[in-house]
Amino acid sequence: MRILVTGGAGFVASHLCDRLLADGHHVVALDNFITGARRNVAHLAGRADFQLVEADLIEGIPVAGRFDRVYHLASPASPIDYVELPFQTLYVGSDGTRNALERCLADGARMLLASTSEVYGDPAVHPQVESYWGNVNPVGPRSVYDEAKRYAEALTMAFARYKGVQTRIVRIFNTYGPRMRAEDGRVVPTFIHQALAGQPLTVFGDGGQTRSFCYVSDLVDGLVRLMESGLDQPCNIGNPHERTMLELAEHINRSTGNGAGVIFQPLPKDDPTRRRPDITRARTELGWEPEVDFAEGIARTIAWFQATQAAEG
Ligand code: UDP
Repeated sequence: MRILVTGGAGFVASHLCDRLLADGHHVVALDNFITGARRNVAHLAGRADFQLVEADLIEGIPVAGRFDRVYHLASPASPIDYVELPFQTLYVGSDGTRNALERCLADGARMLLASTSEVYGDPAVHPQVESYWGNVNPVGPRSVYDEAKRYAEALTMAFARYKGVQTRIVRIFNTYGPRMRAEDGRVVPTFIHQALAGQPLTVFGDGGQTRSFCYVSDLVDGLVRLMESGLDQPCNIGNPHERTMLELAEHINRSTGNGAGVIFQPLPKDDPTRRRPDITRARTELGWEPEVDFAEGIARTIAWFQATQAAEG
């Protein structure tokens, strides 16, 4: 198939490009590089089955030829990024999603929207099941992301219902792995970066808030399975193993031999107190389940950060 990946030079999307190419597809990656990085796809340069296009999805998709599938992953995706890029975050979720859907309508392509566990906000239902409508602050600092993704889901469902576009919606929970930016603000790269520098890890609040972390290759497998399934309702993809941020910090300090401990800093506004996916739907409808053990995934991620830092001197 010929497949468009929006945000194709990003963390998750670049791993998805690798997977789609390994499966024998032709891939076009579209990115404006505001949070994506050329180095994430540099190893694909020169391949006849891969094309990298620098463009802003908000403006359109300047690529000729028909697509069979569109994986729509373009968006800033870390709390630091989306408050620094509030309008790009809102517009790529709204106008960018519309451009992706219009292209699918024109091409007869199927689209997978990368939505997020953030649609559940600070959840009152735990673990989060797809039927839960969420608890989002519509005017808080995270709303540029949360509400853009909620709108993107609504727009995607409308294109499916009223225009007959084949759509899939994945709600992605916290994901980690190689190619995250050390400075993107998300907790795993931040802690690893600090630990490798021998610094104390910055735990926000009392560190009792929880997240559930999925290794990137598991997520990518879930995206492909969902795209090729018949499931047109939202589907959580994430690892249900939940842990506190203090536990995460201790694990990373142990794994890196960092003796600097932790320091506590204020909790950001509207930081969800807990998060864990209910993955019954993915298990039953997609036969999907995460496979990479947390200690193994963290070890691989640490090794990647070490190698990258060594290469960059
Ligand atoms: N966090 C932290 N220290 C950091 C960065 C993040 O304790 O240096 C916490 C943050 O407050 C949140 C959790 O880690 O409770 C996950 O944050 P992240 O930004 O990775 O993603 P989120 O799930 O909040 O979108």
